[in-house]
Amino acid sequence: MTTTIGWQFDNSYARLPQVFYARLDPVPVDFPQLIILNRTLANELGLHFEAIPDRDAALMLSGNSLPEGAQPIAQAYAGHQFGQFTMLGDGRAILIGEHITPTGKRIDIQLKGSGQTPFSRRGDGRAALGPMLREYIISEAMHALGIPTTRSLAVVTTGETIMRETRLPGAILTRTAASHIRVGTFEYAARLGQIEQLKMLADYTIHRHYPESVQSDHPYLALLNQVIERQAALVAQWMLVGFIHGVMNTDNMAISGETIDYGPCAFMDGYDPATVFSSIDHHGRYSYENQPLAAHWNLARFAESLLPLLDSQQNQAIALAEEAIHTFPEKFQANWLKGMRQKMGLFNAEDLDSELIGDLLSWMQVNQADYTLFLRSLTQNHLNDAKLIQNPQFMTWHARWQDRLDRQQQSRDSALNLMRSHNPVIIPRNHRVEEVLAAAEHGDYSLLHQLLAAISDPYVDNPVFSHYTTPAPDSERIYQTFCGT
Ligand code: AMP
Ligand code: MG
Repeated sequence: MTTTIGWQFDNSYARLPQVFYARLDPVPVDFPQLIILNRTLANELGLHFEAIPDRDAALMLSGNSLPEGAQPIAQAYAGHQFGQFTMLGDGRAILIGEHITPTGKRIDIQLKGSGQTPFSRRGDGRAALGPMLREYIISEAMHALGIPTTRSLAVVTTGETIMRETRLPGAILTRTAASHIRVGTFEYAARLGQIEQLKMLADYTIHRHYPESVQSDHPYLALLNQVIERQAALVAQWMLVGFIHGVMNTDNMAISGETIDYGPCAFMDGYDPATVFSSIDHHGRYSYENQPLAAHWNLARFAESLLPLLDSQQNQAIALAEEAIHTFPEKFQANWLKGMRQKMGLFNAEDLDSELIGDLLSWMQVNQADYTLFLRSLTQNHLNDAKLIQNPQFMTWHARWQDRLDRQQQSRDSALNLMRSHNPVIIPRNHRVEEVLAAAEHGDYSLLHQLLAAISDPYVDNPVFSHYTTPAPDSERIYQTFCGT
């Protein structure tokens, strides 16, 4: 069966010292049923699930039967959760192995919701259908938007009920990732207090994600710098599409630079930098505008973990770490501004661009403009919204912007095309996601498939999907999202 599907496992993480994981199998479930399988992703991975009956696929994607070559482990890690250090680890996930794709990429295959592990603390090791479908939808939307992310291969229901605030249908998500090495994995290794183990993790990570760093005079400093670069680029991309991760704890930040661990995440509707959706984020620590600050803070924890490898003299190590970490705000800002220029149709850079962009955002905030819809509306050739045309502040801004576009060599058409490829029409809006999850809990998956079709081509204005483009009416607005762990 396994050879038919095309699995090619090579489990390098399981060859690290035992302190980094626990070996164990997923806990079998009662009655696994395949809800959704990402056939496009399966094809990219060289996996042929069409060669087996769905029943067998469900057994495999629930962990009830394991593919040949799998070597299941729960990974150990730590993390700062809302600022507090805690020992964590995969409490409800199992890495079944690393699959090597036909193009030679090494991809983690993880089952999320697969039962208790030695790291479960008080949790049941399980996941509910709603949050697993939410992760499936949002991660696939992020991928379609061109943002680095873990991906979702499948969701199966377990036939078991789990207890949260209410009884919920249990489910397992198959997640794929460049790796599941987190900032928290390094914090865990540093906490072990053995430089050899920390070094092994760092060498492994460099080899897997940043092989060019090996050539550097100082590979560990190069690792730090590259992780900073990737996070600066990643968080800028989140900001540009109005994505709010919601739980930017250090265990939820991947060293690969992929977006990981979709909990109470959501896309902002009306532009407001202080937006928070997560019901557990009481102080807005991970609000939209705080995301670059949170990333910066997390990277400082990463740098701290690396100190013993940066220099044998602690003072020198700290100086190197600080110098690297201090580059983050500037790198983030450069990525963000580059992206905003593209959203505004600007090919070149002028000194006053930040001001031009900032003024638009302030206007949008005051006027409660929908972030996605409004920016996309600027890609139309003519202003035809009477309310806007009668708004003197907006018209003043618009004239400045038109002058700015006139000062660049590129034609207006090329500017509009640039804008259309950077301002999405479709994002998975909260009320649409909630609608899908509610229907799914009653066994209706038709809305799920429709939403997935709509988000798969987010920069194309397809009239078929027009009802996914507009914000929720006030009565349907979602103000809070829950992790549902
Ligand atoms: P998360 O909030 O999903 O990033 O998870 C934080 C930590 O809690 C991780 O160590 C998870 O494995 C663990 N965790 C979350 N939900 C459960 C659960 N239902 N059972 C056991 N551990 C869990
Ligand atoms: Mg997590």
